Amino acid sequence: MKNYKVGIIGATGMVGQRFISLLNNHPNFKIVLLAASSKSAGKTYEEAVKGRFLIDEDIPEFVKSMKVLDAEADKEYIAKNVDFVFCATSLSKEETKILEESYAKLECPVVSNNSAHRHTKDVPMIIPEINPEHAEIIISQRKRLGTKKGFVAVKSNCSLQSYVPAIAPLLDLGVDKVAVCTYQAISGAGKTFETMPEILDNVIPFISGEEEKSEIEPLKIFGKIKDNEIVPSDSPKFTSQCIRVPVSDGHTAAVFFSLKNKVSKQEILNRWANYKNPIAELNLPSAPKQFLHYFEEDNLPQPKLQRELENGMAISLGRLREDSIFDYRFIGLSHNTKRGAAGGAVLLAELLCEKGYI
Ligand code: NAP
Repeated sequence: MKNYKVGIIGATGMVGQRFISLLNNHPNFKIVLLAASSKSAGKTYEEAVKGRFLIDEDIPEFVKSMKVLDAEADKEYIAKNVDFVFCATSLSKEETKILEESYAKLECPVVSNNSAHRHTKDVPMIIPEINPEHAEIIISQRKRLGTKKGFVAVKSNCSLQSYVPAIAPLLDLGVDKVAVCTYQAISGAGKTFETMPEILDNVIPFISGEEEKSEIEPLKIFGKIKDNEIVPSDSPKFTSQCIRVPVSDGHTAAVFFSLKNKVSKQEILNRWANYKNPIAELNLPSAPKQFLHYFEEDNLPQPKLQRELENGMAISLGRLREDSIFDYRFIGLSHNTKRGAAGGAVLLAELLCEKGYI
């Protein structure tokens, strides 16, 4: 892979900070620009994140003194001086859509963590180990935007990463119903135990918009490209409940599913162990060596023990067993700010670079 100059929009936020940490020693992506809102613009990065750098490590030296740019006002300068940007902002959906497309129209590819474009029909929403072929829709998107290089590509919501990777290898068995309950870490809300004291000794049974995302986004990931758009799959049917729990990092999912063609437990375990990961041979720098890890122990996976597996990029599974109402049930786990946010976006960018879209 060549070397690329990278900008981060929303660099001062929780996901932006994670991008900085993950890209610190990246072999091919060099951070050359940081941008955020006008509130942070003009400050050094160290000043802008003073008292709110939430990653459990020091701010990398090379970004401390970088001047934070204004993602709006400095757009043209940013677009001209990078090969692509990562974007993770707290703007409204409409504002995010406009911001991301305006970068794309300035011929600057955008790899986004935001949800605004997840259902734009010619914007690929990619989990690289599952649907890398959706990148082909970028050709149609460029036609619509009138660009040669610019486009927007997105990653899916963090909650999905704990169960969609386990369902993907089973799709040809006719998975028809999936019920999932997610137990989501507080970093998913941009919080720590200091900034969310109400979560201690508690669970909060509501995360705004999360259940809709958990049920709808998998269908786009399992969809097919047809007539210049990605047509979502009409199966399986997903239903979900999403709950905030007192865990710092790592989303857990309790999953129940039914199959049209029922197979043995061993067959499901074999499919997980032998899943033909379509990007395995690309050897992308952030890809886990093994995508799915199954744990035999009854008390695994646990956020505290497995979230950092393969640099927080692997998916941990366990407790697969028959169910009395559905066919099977299992537990899934993934790191929400690594695999589920910045790490997933870095892996997606690596794929898009390797395939020549960036
Ligand atoms: P956050 O901590 O609130 O950070 C928001 C970032 O957006 C800050 O850098 C902020 O800059 C910037 N921003 C605000 N207004 C802006 C503007 N007008 N122009 C440019 N930048 C602006 O949020 P977060 O948790 O990092 O989440 C960012 C995005 O990632 C959201 O869409 C979220 O849904 C998504 N996401 C988060 C997670 C997670 O685990 N946290 C997982 C998946 C996806 P200032 O500091 O200057 O205000």
